[in-house]
Amino acid sequence: MIDGIEGATFQRTLVDLEDCQCVRCRAPVLLVADPDPDTIIRSAIKCSICDAEYDLIWGVPFLGAYDREDITGLIEIAANARADNLYPDGPTIRRLECLLRAYHEAPDRRAFVEGEPDEFVRAPWFSNRYDEWLHFTELTKDLSFSGLSVLDVGAGTGFDTHRLVVAGAQVTTLEYNPALCRNGNKAVPEARWIGGLAHSIDTEFKVFNRHPGVLLGINESLPSFTAFESVLMRHGPSLDIGLLTGVLYRARLRGLGPL
Ligand SMILES: [Zn+2]
Repeated sequence: MIDGIEGATFQRTLVDLEDCQCVRCRAPVLLVADPDPDTIIRSAIKCSICDAEYDLIWGVPFLGAYDREDITGLIEIAANARADNLYPDGPTIRRLECLLRAYHEAPDRRAFVEGEPDEFVRAPWFSNRYDEWLHFTELTKDLSFSGLSVLDVGAGTGFDTHRLVVAGAQVTTLEYNPALCRNGNKAVPEARWIGGLAHSIDTEFKVFNRHPGVLLGINESLPSFTAFESVLMRHGPSLDIGLLTGVLYRARLRGLGPL
């Protein structure tokens, strides 16, 4: 059994929007309804200055809105919206993490796969999950996440979110798919799940201006990388920023960061 979430030191920030701001005017936003994981509450978040309103979708605040360029992402959301499309829950994530580590450490991986009673190791997707696990493990092996505020961009099914929580980070996720946010909020509730898009992060999070942070993006196709990059460069002088991607790659931005 690898170190579990039980051993992590983090602060659960249920729906704390203190460090978020209105995408339109950058003023603080106010939560005016109680989050409910089973319903969509329209206009549950209001800007303190302008008339912008944002929704709580299944308990997750969604800041920002989809743009025309997000059409491919919206198609993906629709394609994955089927009720029988099951995403991994918390126990499944922890079960798979144990197997991935055991597979990695096995002296004979072929024998491990043949002899392991858990059928997960023989699933067609197991090698893909192992590649992701290996990327994360290699990229972060020299890092300490304890006490860091981490923004996990494109958190998806929450595997990396879970790893960051276990590593001691205080994690905020940014995920554009409401179904994934809904699942992730239940599977990895120790993180703060926020719905939104990567190209609006420059106005959503004052956290960039207030806390050292690590920016994690595991997504092979960020919707607007030039905008994403400009955010990194603009805030680079005042932050610890690391950029991790699905491709084995490490970037150190000017004068900063543990990477
Ligand atoms: Zn506003």
